[in-house]
Amino acid sequence: MINIALIAHDGKKPEMVSFVIKSKKFLKDAKIFATGTTGGHIEKEGFNVIKLLSGPKGGDAQIAAKIAEGEINVVIFFRDPLDKHPHEPDVQMLLRLCDVHNIPLATNPKSAHYILLGISTVLENQ
Ligand code: PGA
Repeated sequence: MINIALIAHDGKKPEMVSFVIKSKKFLKDAKIFATGTTGGHIEKEGFNVIKLLSGPKGGDAQIAAKIAEGEINVVIFFRDPLDKHPHEPDVQMLLRLCDVHNIPLATNPKSAHYILLGISTVLENQ
């Protein structure tokens, strides 16, 4: 089972919703973790989601901790590069831990699409 973390800054939540709709086939077999508000949007599309705190309240830090503990295999984080975020240190920590633990990370929809495609191909050939 793939454990995937889904996070989107406010300006990117519509893109996250359209991404999860397009990726239904992959995501229906995955365990989804998400920050609070992002998770609420994803649930509305019919997915089961393990919702953590909202990002600014510590949700990104919670996901970072799960990465460090080996609980998450893929991170999709649609960051808004045109806005400021009070929890930027937590965001940086999360991105750093992806690199520390060699976790595939996508920060925009096209990259996310190719990561899921790559994982699907690997799983099919196992
Ligand atoms: P949210 O958090 O899903 O609770 O909005 C995302 C973030 O800002 O990191």
